[in-house]
This record gives sequence, structure tokens and C-alpha cells, in this order.
Amino acid sequence: MTARLGALLLVVACAPKPPPAVQDGPHALTVLHTNDIHAHFEPEPAEWLDGRPAIGGFVRLEQEVRTLRAARGKDHTLTLDGGDQLTGTPITEIEVEGSFGGAMHALFDEVGYDAWVIGNHEFDKGLENISRYVQNHPTLPLSSNLLKPGSATPLLPQQEKSHIFDIAGMRVGVIGVTTDRLAGLMNKGDFALLTLLPEAQAVQAEVDLLDPQTDLIVVLSHIGVERDQTLASEVSGIDLIVGAHSHTRLTSALRIGDTYVVQAGSHNRSLGIVDLVEQDDRITEFRYELRDLLPNTATVAPDPEIQGLVATYKASVDRVYGERVSEATGLLGRSYNHESALGRWITDALRDRSGADIALYNGGGLRADLAEGPVTRLVLFQCFPFQNPVMQFRLTGQQVLGLVLQNIAADADEKRGFLSTSGLTWTWRRNVGAPELVTALVGGQPLHLTRMYTLVASSYVTEQWQKHLGGEAQPQDLEPLGYTDFDVAVEYARKHPVVDPGDIRGAQVE
Ligand SMILES: [Zn+2]
Repeated sequence: MTARLGALLLVVACAPKPPPAVQDGPHALTVLHTNDIHAHFEPEPAEWLDGRPAIGGFVRLEQEVRTLRAARGKDHTLTLDGGDQLTGTPITEIEVEGSFGGAMHALFDEVGYDAWVIGNHEFDKGLENISRYVQNHPTLPLSSNLLKPGSATPLLPQQEKSHIFDIAGMRVGVIGVTTDRLAGLMNKGDFALLTLLPEAQAVQAEVDLLDPQTDLIVVLSHIGVERDQTLASEVSGIDLIVGAHSHTRLTSALRIGDTYVVQAGSHNRSLGIVDLVEQDDRITEFRYELRDLLPNTATVAPDPEIQGLVATYKASVDRVYGERVSEATGLLGRSYNHESALGRWITDALRDRSGADIALYNGGGLRADLAEGPVTRLVLFQCFPFQNPVMQFRLTGQQVLGLVLQNIAADADEKRGFLSTSGLTWTWRRNVGAPELVTALVGGQPLHLTRMYTLVASSYVTEQWQKHLGGEAQPQDLEPLGYTDFDVAVEYARKHPVVDPGDIRGAQVE
């Protein structure tokens, strides 16, 4: 808190801009950065390393940050996070310090981050929850383009569009930017309660404001590595973009014009380290390393405070999610653009619970394969982590046919997501290369184009009606059933063996 107050006083003291010195700098700065931690507070498998060892976690991260701060000098270091702190493990399904995700914020504070940018997954538990999440924490939330509706005021408490840090006499402007494609990524009701500016427009405005007052401009971005490069070419005056959202492991920095772009993968497994020298408002030396947080390479002892927090949170998760509910007799795999065993299982569970004619589940919602062996609530959570409300609605047979055709196209071209189904079956074939429908059945009876059918799907599917279901028409009589997809999975696993149902829903025939 005092550090930020100090920086604030400095800004006030520095305006208007002092006359340029004959020689400004050189200044040395180290930027340490993470992104898309997604609630992973313990070590996680690193799929790019031989044998997929578990690496990282907050205990290991803090050790590395502490070591680097000691080596470079704490007052020469800026520690930043690129957002999507929430959603990915059950710890953000448990209320800690007044919000879902509060455990994560406590861990970030303990490591001692200077700032972070608000990511799209921060809204997964609603706008009210993220407002509570950011309150009363010393780690500063940034975003220049997330505003209160119809105003220029930052959306969340304590949020700033940008902030000037005093790094040993060097004035570093850090600007936050959140993906401007939030509409498809968050709850529609909450989306109506905010104003979202285009990325480049918001960043350019802040650059223009900060440039005269600063030696270096850093954009802390949650827009993905592709759009970071677009931003670098569209906005003038950015020295460094610290990125996120695309979970990209950049092992060397990209350079677009005079702008460097870095990103540190995901899930708290690697730390990005930028060492730079600035002189006369320009970067004159630049080094970048993406350092994997291997367990056996720490040079200092673990911090007991962080160890204590991690142990407490792990115990909470075990208490709530450790219960064994069933046994899987084999692997239930998943697929994004084809039918899968896990897709068949969860849609059967949804139809069993709701009694609907047809159940749907999107390929992107299946987040892990279900392995053979004991099935705990945690195992089911890893497969279905979003805890979306289950919605019931009605469609005409014609609209159901549209779903079938979309699925056949997904199966055939592998370019789009597949909606797993229960209650709805079809066959298709290739006719001179082009996919064509052969039969379509609901509950074993031919699909009637004029009949109304009852369906269930998660709110994620129904909110993105056009993307997932196709067509202009809205689903009729849309209503929440009062439980989530995860609830359904737990209850179904308790009552039935967890096994691939095996009956193919959409079969290709000769
Ligand atoms: Zn994201």
C-alpha cells in the first residue's frame, strides 16, 4: 500500500512534465511475469517436458521471485500477472475471504505482485463476485477498457486504467487491457452492466496520457498473442507487452517494430523474466527468459507463510472434493469436434436427471479425460469444472435437424465444436466426398420436423445459441432447472457405474 501511495505522490509531483534532462538514464529494470494461472496453486504437469513432471505452484513461484528480487535488487523489479487467475481447480469454487477465488488473491498478495490485469475468466462467478475479489487487496487490478456502463470510470473497485511505478528513479507506466471479445465469454446479464472499449483505442489513449510522464511503457494485456502483435503495430509508443489469454509459452520474445512481446504459458508452471536497460525513453538492452519452475532448482527455502496457505487451501479442497463417489471401469475420453465416450456419458446423465427428449453438451466444456479408477468429486470437477446451470428449452424438429447437420459438418471437417447428444441419433455418409444425412431419430422414432422437442444443455450452450446451435431462432421456454452440470455428474456417478455407454449417436455409414 505504501509503495503505491509513494508512486502516486511521485506522479502528482511529476506533473507537469519536467524539462527533459540532458541525459536520462540508463535505468535497469527486471519484469517478472505470470499469466493464466487459472487457480493452479499446486505443482502441475508440464506436458512439454520429458515424463510430464509436476512443476511450479505458488510455493515454488515465490522462491524464484524472492531469489530474483535479491539478485536484481527489489527496487529494480516489477512483478506482474496477466490475468485469468480464476477457474481451473476447485479452490475458486470455495468462498475464502468473502469471494469465490479469494484464496488466489491471498496467494498473489503473499508473493507480492505489483499489478495484474483483469481477464475474462475473472467474471465466471459473476460481476458481484469479482468486485468483492478485488477489494481490500494490495495487488492493483488494471484495465483501460473495462468501464462502468456509459462512463469513463473503471468498472471495479480499486481498478485503475494504468499506473506509473517508480522503479529506482525510472518512471514505468503500466497499462492494462482486457480482451474486447468478452461478449461471447461471459454471462450476458453481467455483460450488460459494463462498457468495453476496443483494445487499441483504449491503450492508445493511455499511452498518449502516460508518454510525457514516463521513461518506459508496458502494456499488461489479456488479449492473446495474436492480438498483442496487432496492438503493437496499431498503437505507437509501447515498449513491452506482457501478454496472456492464449496460454502461449514464448521461449523468446517477439519483436514488432520497437515493441517486445512476451508471455509465460499458463497454470503457474513458468516465470517470465525480462531484464532491460532504458536510456532516453528507449530500450537499449533487452534479455528475456522463460524459466520453468522445476521443483529441484530452488536456491532458497520455501516461505512458511505461503506453505501454510497452500496447505490450508489443499485441505479445504480435499474436504469438499475428496469424497469418492464411484469407480470408472475404463477410460472415458473426450473430443472437441467428434463424439466421445465422456460426451455420451454426461449427456445420458443430463437426460436421466431432467427427463428431456434430448440432452446436449459442448466439446469445449469437456475439460479432462476421465481415467480408469476411483471417481472422486475432484475427478468429476476436472472433467466438468464450469458448474454452469442446466437449462431446459424447446426446439422444433426443423431446429433439431439443424443441430444434426452442424454435428455432421463438425465430424466431417474437424473445424468446429461437436455437441454430444443423448436421445438424438443419426447416421450419415459421404456422397462424392460431401457429407449427407441418412437417418435422424429422437428416442428411436423418426425426427418430425414440425414436432416440438424438449432439450437440456448448460447455460454456456444456450447463451451462445448461434455458435453452438445455429440459426436465428431463439430457444423457446428457456428455464433453469436449479442444478449444474457438475451436480448432475456427481449424482449420476453415485447411482451408476462410470462406463462408456458405448452406443454411437452419430454413425458414419457406407
Ligand atoms: Zn483468458
